[in-house]
Amino acid sequence: MTLFLTLYFFILGTILGSFYNVVGLRLPKGDLFKESRSHCPNCHHTLQWYELVPIVSFLLQKGRCRNCKKKISSVYPIMEALSGMTFALSFYLFGFQVELVLALLLMSLFHMIVVADFAYMVIPDRLLLFFLPLFIVYRVIDPLDPWWASLIGGAVGLFLTAAIILLSKGGMGGGDMKLFGLIGFVLGWKLLLVTYFLSTLIGAMVSWGLLAAGVIERKKPIPFGPFIVLGASFAFFSGRIIIDWYLQTFF
Ligand SMILES: [Zn+2]
Repeated sequence: MTLFLTLYFFILGTILGSFYNVVGLRLPKGDLFKESRSHCPNCHHTLQWYELVPIVSFLLQKGRCRNCKKKISSVYPIMEALSGMTFALSFYLFGFQVELVLALLLMSLFHMIVVADFAYMVIPDRLLLFFLPLFIVYRVIDPLDPWWASLIGGAVGLFLTAAIILLSKGGMGGGDMKLFGLIGFVLGWKLLLVTYFLSTLIGAMVSWGLLAAGVIERKKPIPFGPFIVLGASFAFFSGRIIIDWYLQTFF
């Protein structure tokens, strides 16, 4: 039964993931509701339902548009697969506990941030403003211990990032600041600091690697949002894994 449900959450994640890809790409351009049907960006051929099956369509069509044979970015199926995996992991770790809602909300927000930040170097305000009230309601129903850890986390996230922006002159942007504030509110100040540590570490290592490999140039900025998202996901899930391990070992 657990296996069946985990598979169910994987498939749910890939379907929502393909929707989040569209939102992440359209929201920064402001045309989220202008065109209702998905189409090929090259030949404008309207996609049929069998061309929109997450991951499967991409594989069957060997990564090309059925109509014009133009290559489709492999970012789409990769993000769909990641979304499926994080949804499955969320269910595997939390089952039908209330934290499952939090995990799915976070993974949904993070997915759209990664897509938007990679494509346009922005974390859309409207995305954060859409999720903020949902997280506030969640933290009223299932507060941190103590409950004001949310407020401290939110404040630390905003002000610490603002200080970093002032001192570093361009390492991070206003979108990163708001995202850290939101993560601080949701996860509390302790996991926020873990997120800081992990995201700057991973960001520095990846940037160094890309520079060394000649993929990017020194002056060219790279989006930091995906590293924040990665750090926060590690902090969020590993916190749970460590608690599980502790309970199973000592109780
Ligand atoms: Zn096409």
